[in-house]
Amino acid sequence: MSIEIFHLGAEKDVTGSCHYLHLNDTHILIDCGMTQGNVKTKDMRHWPVHASEIDYLFITHAHIDHIGRIPELVRNGFEGEILTTHATKALMTPMLENAMALGFQDKRDRKKMIARIDDLTWGFEFNESFQLKKKISFTLGRAGHILGSCFVQIQTKDVSVVFSGDLGATDTPILCEPDIPAPCDILCLESTYGDHIHENRAERIQKLGQVLTHAVSDEGKVYIPSFSLGRTQEFLYEMDRIFSDPDLKKQFPDITKNKRIPVFLDSPLGFTITRLFSQLSKYWNKEAKQLKKRGDHPIDFKYLYTIENSRQHQKLVDMPGPSIIIAGSGMCTGGRILNHLQGGLPDWRNDILFIGYQASGTLGNEIIRFGKRTGGYVYIDNNRVDIKANIHIITGYSAHADQKGLLNWVDAIKEKPGKIKLIHGEPEAQNKLREKLLEKDYSVMA
Ligand SMILES: [Zn+2]
Repeated sequence: MSIEIFHLGAEKDVTGSCHYLHLNDTHILIDCGMTQGNVKTKDMRHWPVHASEIDYLFITHAHIDHIGRIPELVRNGFEGEILTTHATKALMTPMLENAMALGFQDKRDRKKMIARIDDLTWGFEFNESFQLKKKISFTLGRAGHILGSCFVQIQTKDVSVVFSGDLGATDTPILCEPDIPAPCDILCLESTYGDHIHENRAERIQKLGQVLTHAVSDEGKVYIPSFSLGRTQEFLYEMDRIFSDPDLKKQFPDITKNKRIPVFLDSPLGFTITRLFSQLSKYWNKEAKQLKKRGDHPIDFKYLYTIENSRQHQKLVDMPGPSIIIAGSGMCTGGRILNHLQGGLPDWRNDILFIGYQASGTLGNEIIRFGKRTGGYVYIDNNRVDIKANIHIITGYSAHADQKGLLNWVDAIKEKPGKIKLIHGEPEAQNKLREKLLEKDYSVMA
């Protein structure tokens, strides 16, 4: 038996996930994602394996930092199989289409590439074991991060390796709880929030209710930079609860008292994905399914509007509040949120609500850092923009397990993994999580 693992991306940072497993002379890649912020992408020419030699590419979920480089891989000669869950296969198409459109590629070439990737991709059910060549088998378990997300367990008779992918928090709207992998020799574990404890769902919804109450009180706007896939739908779900759950309505009477505050989804991709989420209701959790059965569609409600073209977008930028505006990108590194923030950050009536991780080097991270200071400002498109809007952070929506969640997940594995390798986390988060794991007698690789 021979085994080697190389981390080609997201070893000590949180974007650009890509891991290479060389097992029994079989070349396996786990994720092939794009980097964000100031993280450098490793040139494929310097990989220890050529794209054309890769037999299998596993995809843990359809976020762009896990799938964004698949077109590049195919262009470089990859002809292997792409293995993932059914829901991820469905979600990959619009996500890749959108990412490639931003790269200004010819529309026909783009369509061809998307069709080629779809042809190479196979969807699988959760928790069933399948055979690859050379007596290697694999199982995909629910990771609870976004719809369709999985961890990958790859094994031979001698060795078992688990790649956690991005692990979700427990008690997440719409999603089923993460599954627990079978005992393994090597666990490659994500560590995004290895040094952080999230607010629980009840606390989150309280905070959300307070922000929305404040927004209606002064006619301000609430900006929510959000990833189109995952957080946007979770967030719509929570807002639907605040608007329609009798207890929550009583707790936050001002939100629904006079005129209902309109919610704008200013993201064509967010809209496409939200529609796909509805079609994939088979994979929702029990609570979401029950709501739908009772006639309350959990990610759709009255006064939810979608903004499609740029003319509508400009109108919305100029429109007075109160309103709630969900727009990408999630870390404010581009997209329609930038226009909103240029005009909206200098107005004290407005609120900006971060519901996802803001990697260092991104505008989102800078707004959090500088916005708390008096006289704080940031540069957007080379323009100095003062930050007077209120800044709020609710981390529980970020669809990653916190330190407690990660430890509980590892503890739930029936036997201690032979070795744990921390990946997908910034150094501080990894150090804190490593300390906790060592305290519990786990063997953690440097
Ligand atoms: Zn993710």
